[in-house]
Amino acid sequence: MTSEGPRATVLIVEDNEDNRIIYRTFLEHHGYVVLEACDGEAGVRSARENRPDIVLMDIAMPVLNGLEATKILKSGPATASIPVVALTAHAMVADRNLAAEAGCDSYITKPAEPRQVLAEVQRMLAQTRSPPAV
Ligand code: MN
Repeated sequence: MTSEGPRATVLIVEDNEDNRIIYRTFLEHHGYVVLEACDGEAGVRSARENRPDIVLMDIAMPVLNGLEATKILKSGPATASIPVVALTAHAMVADRNLAAEAGCDSYITKPAEPRQVLAEVQRMLAQTRSPPAV
């Protein structure tokens, strides 16, 4: 990350604390600033307040699930452009389709190795972040 300017912020929206800790630890080790939310409603609030560079969005969560939270983010002008990576529980095509319909930009099938999550974050940010000003 050293040559890429300001550190990117990743918001992890996930109700499973173990997963949050694992992904946070790995992403921070690789230079990212990490924010956490433990349900969809808290995730929407944090995204609006903090404008992360990317969101990792679990699907099955209490209060507001990841599909509904993504729809809200994608329909809000302040948050619509933030890429959302769905964390889907099954490799089922139906889940991927639902995630895509909700506005998710990509998805990872859980259980996902931390390095797989990191690779997807890097890939998505390379696609969507504007290059640093010269
Ligand atoms: Mn969950």
